[in-house]
Amino acid sequence: MPVLADEELATATARLQDAGIRLLSGSVVDPAGVIRAKHVPARRAGAFHAHGMGASPSWNVFCVDNAIAFTPRFGVVGDMRLRADLTAVRVLGDGLAWAPAEMFDQDAAPAPVCTRGLLRRTAARLTEQGLAARVGCELEMVLTPRHGPGWNAYGLGALLDVEAFVLDLLAAADRAGLPVEQVHAEYGDSQLEISIAPSDPLTAADHVVLARLLACRVGRRHDLAVSFSPLPFAGGAGNGAHQHLSLTRDGQPLLSGGTGPHGLTDGGGAAIGGIVAGLPELTAVFAGSVLSPHRLQPGHWSGAFACWGWENREAAVRLCAETPGNPHGASVELKCIDPSANPYLATAVFVELALDGLARGAALPPEVTVAPDALTPEEAARTAAVRLPADQRSALEMLQGSEPARRLLGEEILEALTAVRRHELDTYGGHDVDAVAEQLRYAWSV
Ligand code: GLU
Ligand code: MG
Repeated sequence: MPVLADEELATATARLQDAGIRLLSGSVVDPAGVIRAKHVPARRAGAFHAHGMGASPSWNVFCVDNAIAFTPRFGVVGDMRLRADLTAVRVLGDGLAWAPAEMFDQDAAPAPVCTRGLLRRTAARLTEQGLAARVGCELEMVLTPRHGPGWNAYGLGALLDVEAFVLDLLAAADRAGLPVEQVHAEYGDSQLEISIAPSDPLTAADHVVLARLLACRVGRRHDLAVSFSPLPFAGGAGNGAHQHLSLTRDGQPLLSGGTGPHGLTDGGGAAIGGIVAGLPELTAVFAGSVLSPHRLQPGHWSGAFACWGWENREAAVRLCAETPGNPHGASVELKCIDPSANPYLATAVFVELALDGLARGAALPPEVTVAPDALTPEEAARTAAVRLPADQRSALEMLQGSEPARRLLGEEILEALTAVRRHELDTYGGHDVDAVAEQLRYAWSV
């Protein structure tokens, strides 16, 4: 984390106070995907940055329902310091500011369990290799109570039902510097999506947290609760949290301008090969909650198969090629990510899988040009299309047995992630899905 000198800290604090800020919230996202925070009066911003606020190691094993899945490493003894990254602070208005925080130990060493720290190391590795990545996120959410007589997917009227909320959300986003590119009424009942402009990976993950914070904060003013559950209502559409990744080497795009399919370069093909190959073992990172498998189904546009295809919305990896209609240039969209995933961890692993593919020159599997569940067994074998783990237990077992997971996440994150997801499996697995969807509807809200 960039550490500010005393003088810079004084300036940063004065700037917050001049903007009328009274309270600074600093948040981390835990392995269960829940955003947790500490708060200080604005005049204490310097202390929040330089020394941090205390938090028990058990923060890493808090569960979606506030149970604590203690492990040998994460118990009641010890202390972490949550330090606010003041280089990323955002003014939210009405006296409130927010900054992402990172975890350190008491001797000021970065904690290996910190997922924002992990993503920062991934970003540094990209730079070392002469690569640059841009990540843009799409966040789906369901607003309750429902408004109006009905909800048409992409309907103009549907958006007007929640017009006041949307206009306030855009104003809040402008104030906080969240670059919203698009808003639409999604397929599900009372479901909205906002797309966030691409940025460097760390900022992109911060933007996911900021967007959830703003949506829930604005929702309160409109008496709307906002659900970021992968399955807000059993039988209804799931919420996705798709990410688009583009890569350049020495300023040249890897996903366009080449001689491969749809203009992929050799490197771009290898990056996609790495992502597709790594997905099954790492599904628990991207869609690991007890509700996630109910969303990650064929026919839900959630990318339930490890395979890739040009503009294929049923493939976990959808290639958006460079065209005049796509001003950001080519990207790959990872569709299997849902909002129960920790965005720092999901982004880090997404980028690392691409780097892995590049490093070993992974083969690009043949493209899937139809919905993958319609492939014949021969076609599935030819394109190496594999159904992602269809239940939480399999996803967890694959994660635990995975050498790449151990290497990419490290022992500590792996231990915490496994503990909280196992708690979900033991507590809710096999229960009536209506009841579980209701119980956890707001578990990932702010
Ligand atoms: N709601 C779908 C999901 O759970 C995504 C729909 C879309 O393609 O935007 O991922
Ligand atoms: Mg969508």
